[in-house]
Amino acid sequence: MLDLDAAATTPVRREALEAMWPYLTGEYGNPSSVHGAGQRAAEALERARGQVAAVLGSRAAEVIFTSGGTEAINLIIKGIALTQPRGRHVLVAATEHEAVRASAAALATWHGFEVEELPVGPTGLVDEATLRAALRPDTTLVSIALANNEVGTVQPIAALAAIVHEVGAVVHTDVVQAAGWLSLDVQSLGVDALSVSGHKFGAPKGIGAAWVRGSLQVEPLLHGGGQERGRRSGTENVAGAVAFGVAAVLAEQERLAADDAELARTRQVFVEALLAAVPEAALTGDATARLPGHVSITLGAVSGESVLLALEESGVLASSGSACHAGSDAPSPVLLALGIDPVTAQTALRFTFGRGVAQDALLHVAGAVGAAVRRLTRQP
Ligand code: PLP
Repeated sequence: MLDLDAAATTPVRREALEAMWPYLTGEYGNPSSVHGAGQRAAEALERARGQVAAVLGSRAAEVIFTSGGTEAINLIIKGIALTQPRGRHVLVAATEHEAVRASAAALATWHGFEVEELPVGPTGLVDEATLRAALRPDTTLVSIALANNEVGTVQPIAALAAIVHEVGAVVHTDVVQAAGWLSLDVQSLGVDALSVSGHKFGAPKGIGAAWVRGSLQVEPLLHGGGQERGRRSGTENVAGAVAFGVAAVLAEQERLAADDAELARTRQVFVEALLAAVPEAALTGDATARLPGHVSITLGAVSGESVLLALEESGVLASSGSACHAGSDAPSPVLLALGIDPVTAQTALRFTFGRGVAQDALLHVAGAVGAAVRRLTRQP
């Protein structure tokens, strides 16, 4: 099986699995217990927090372990907006992940916030002038993902964050898809809060983190025993956090050692082969400001789902959009936000791959996509 759906999830790294194993078996203590077993679990948790903080260039105390990206996003969007005295206007990029858009929508439904979608350009980039014009004196929070899951577009987040800071609002960036590909150094990103998920870079599903700048207050989603410095109650997922810390460090080391310009060239060859194999196809997202292992296209005439099924039969896993938007056959809001019409949006295909991918394998997939499209449209 050739997995070209790495943006959906990744296998657990052996090192992460081995690191977490003791905390599922012999060292199963509760970090809140005062006895030795509890204290060893607490130490492991803090070691993991330190590893995540090292990757983020932040203080360890600013890292809050969560059950994944979705929870981190909910905690940040709701938890920060509710504590900010500035006002009740929230801006989210029109291409944000459903977790961001739904969290903001909940603020509107239950807390009287006004949520506005920040339009993006045709390749998914947020324009500085558009952002400037959308900011208001009562804007509390702005959420713009560093990298988009469906079309791979990478935002110039530091420049955008600086504009938001001119009016004194808080900036959150979802780095779930950027992790392992781009620097997550919070000082360089210039943001106030960030959300990340472990299963995109070799930690298990169900562990993630929210980073919140120390000076910011967060209203917890989960109240209880006061774990995570009162910001996320509930007995900690020690083993998950340990795996997350190890995977985060390894992903960062690999990123620093890699030549992603070469992967981007491989990606370009693949894009050209796809466009040659399917003349009606078009690249979605930005041609250059995009994740190096991310290709997204619209096929033009054939549903993405039908080509996916044909690809799976020939041993290739891909996606027709976001794996996180489970079971929906509505056109992707991300593609609509890019100005793609709803019918064409249904023809989307996404291929996401790691650094080990072979160019020959990708060229073979491009041929298989072309053959599937011809068969489905009954072309010779
Ligand atoms: N944000 C983005 C950009 C994602 O791609 C995903 C999942 O794919 C999430 C958030 C949600 O993360 P999790 O699956 O850990 O809840």
